[in-house]
Amino acid sequence: MIIVPLGVASATPTAVRHLPSVALWREGDVHLFDCGENTQMRMLQAGLKRSKIENIFISHFDVDHYSGLIGLISTLQLQRRDRQLNIIGPKGIKEYVEWNLSFANVELNYDLNFIEVEEDFESMKVVDEDEYYVEARPLNHSKFCMGFRFQEKDKPGKVDAEKAQALGITEDAQYKALKAGEDIELSDGKIIKSYDIVGHPRPGDSFAYISDTKYCPNAVKLSMNTNILYHEATFSESLADKAAETGHSTSGDAARVATEAQTKLLVIGHFSARYTNPFVLLREARAKFFPAWLATELRPIYTNPAQEKGIVEQKVYIKEIDEKSESKSPRKKSYDKGGDNKRFRKRRSSSDRGDDRRGGSRRSSSGRRDDSGGERRKRRPERQPKDRDYNRDYGSKDYNNDNQGSSRPPKHITPRTPFDNFDRF
Ligand SMILES: [Zn+2]
Repeated sequence: MIIVPLGVASATPTAVRHLPSVALWREGDVHLFDCGENTQMRMLQAGLKRSKIENIFISHFDVDHYSGLIGLISTLQLQRRDRQLNIIGPKGIKEYVEWNLSFANVELNYDLNFIEVEEDFESMKVVDEDEYYVEARPLNHSKFCMGFRFQEKDKPGKVDAEKAQALGITEDAQYKALKAGEDIELSDGKIIKSYDIVGHPRPGDSFAYISDTKYCPNAVKLSMNTNILYHEATFSESLADKAAETGHSTSGDAARVATEAQTKLLVIGHFSARYTNPFVLLREARAKFFPAWLATELRPIYTNPAQEKGIVEQKVYIKEIDEKSESKSPRKKSYDKGGDNKRFRKRRSSSDRGDDRRGGSRRSSSGRRDDSGGERRKRRPERQPKDRDYNRDYGSKDYNNDNQGSSRPPKHITPRTPFDNFDRF
């Protein structure tokens, strides 16, 4: 499974953080947990196909958690989706979506399957498929809010092919039966036990999504022994009063849930806009539970990096990833090779150089190889600044004026205005 945070802000988005949504990729399908305003665009940027969405889970009815839903449903309609989409949320989600569609006179080509959850429940399997299930439990927020656990069912053990062959098993049907736990009889009357050939069942991966809650035992139950726990950490511990008042967690609360649930990896998100530097929150969380990460938008988190790396390739520049490995990043190389960029660069370089340059090419058009070789030689020093065009688009103006030899990263600033009211969550 691959977890891709799409928006890690709380109710107020900032210039660099979007409204809440987390995507889970599994075997080609995408499952969304919450659907804030920018979710469909962030999916594109993350390299996740919107047509692959199977389930959308809405935790509660704070606007930031479901404001992207109608736009996404409408995009799927325009993409001519024809398979069913499941929407799981608190009671009322069906009415909300259907009212919006009828208001806009939209008749969908595909079916929406709503699974509505009423407030007074203890635990519920909201989705149950052959290979996985999703459990919901109520959390403790200022209004009804659910947490979710996505659990893969145990996978059958691996067949020891060499041993099987040595024992004289040849037919596919025999392998299938053994894998399903059945013993078989060979033509010579020899009985082969399933457990001789097939290893122990492998436990499925698991992910818990806990957003918008104070510390609560149900969060621990949902997260018990998970591979990845995504937990909100809206405030630092110095604002514990504010967290309690608004029904949110501090980074310490998130670490407490992770410790009690013995999750393998805690990922904190849903940061208040007041933290331009969320590492403050990470430091606090790590003091109590070390395997903790900051949710970084569009940066995938793998349950099995060895197998999953490269499946989800984000389509935009991510400051943290691209700057760290500037020299050897394969992603950066692909920007350089990109068809569009190449064309762009050529056009730019000829116009930069003016008529003289083009005249020069024409003059030496007889010696084609020499010409291109010469061009390559002459162009080389120009390449540096061109490579930076991409960064410039996403970085600050300072970077543009930077000393070209310097590898100083662009200075990213979260703009704040007097209109930002950080007390509203
Ligand atoms: Zn929220």
